[in-house]
Amino acid sequence: MTVSERAQYAADETASRGRRITEPPSRYRGEYQRDRDRIIHSTAFRRLVYKTQVFVNHEGDLYRTRLTHSLEVAQIGRTVAVALHLNEPLTEAICLAHDLGHTPFGHAGQDELNACMRGFGGFEHNLQSLRVVDELETKYADFPGLNLMFETREGILKHCSARNARALGDVGERFLLRRQPGLEAQLANIADAIAYNNHDVDDGLRAGLLSLEQLREQALFGPQLDVVRERYPDLDDRRLIYEVIRRMIDKVVTDLIENTRRNIEAANPASIEDVRSHDGPLVLMSEDVYAQHVALKRFLNKHLYSHEKKLEMTRRAKAIVRELFAVFMNDTASLPQEFCSLAEAEDEAGKARVVADYIAGMTDRYAIAEHKRILG
Ligand code: MG
Repeated sequence: MTVSERAQYAADETASRGRRITEPPSRYRGEYQRDRDRIIHSTAFRRLVYKTQVFVNHEGDLYRTRLTHSLEVAQIGRTVAVALHLNEPLTEAICLAHDLGHTPFGHAGQDELNACMRGFGGFEHNLQSLRVVDELETKYADFPGLNLMFETREGILKHCSARNARALGDVGERFLLRRQPGLEAQLANIADAIAYNNHDVDDGLRAGLLSLEQLREQALFGPQLDVVRERYPDLDDRRLIYEVIRRMIDKVVTDLIENTRRNIEAANPASIEDVRSHDGPLVLMSEDVYAQHVALKRFLNKHLYSHEKKLEMTRRAKAIVRELFAVFMNDTASLPQEFCSLAEAEDEAGKARVVADYIAGMTDRYAIAEHKRILG
């Protein structure tokens, strides 16, 4: 197989379950390319530039935002997709869309909005990403949302409760039948985890919340650090960190490609349907490297995401989300006109959903400004 050839187990638009509303084909682009382009042109995608990954946007210009995170996920996803002869445009589309439903202030915002929505069906950013592309984007005259292909939507919905799955119809089916998504979706999910583990190390070091000596204990980081130090003894810290991180990414991505190749060879799927009915995912790192990856994730959880400096930001962010939610629930007139009329047509749970959609769509700085404007 040449590099650009697609395998029989890759997603194929001619065998796709298609779009919810049928559209004439594009003259120049494939259907998944078109999905990727719709995502890039969406309002929700542009907003990612002002949404927190780990550090709040205004804490520094060099930290990752949700937008640069999504681009790094897509870069890793595309590399692996090409190496495994998967559908590259579909992989890219899923990677770019995977965080569209994220609230302002990262996980702190999502957790608080979920708490506010308890009793109204909860809030889950992953499900919200699907809601953005299915319903909330208002750009096209003929349909709500972006009317994406089934496989793109399947990939965006990474996990889902049985109750939500039942309400979602076709795209929720696999959670009830315990089936897998296509390989492109499996890949986008892992590319996400690889990207954040690595860039959070970089951002954490940059912010001074992590140290090289602390990270040296990590099986993914330590050996790479020693190699770079030995080869370039006089290297300044900034370049040293990059040299270590590029080696870490290379190690994990290479392992992912090789191990997945072995899995595919053993399972020998003849189509995406075989992939879907295989008992378990096929796109996986080897056990060894996966254990190192998880250890690093745990380390970041303990030392970066739960750092005292981060927790202070978390408390402030949660208060902003909680207080905005309460204000809008009590007084829908304080919502912008289009959300206000939507909310007034609904019962209490429907109103809460409209408020959650509005808050989830906010960027960090817009949420801060709204909070200041309304609550002083
Ligand atoms: Mg992500």
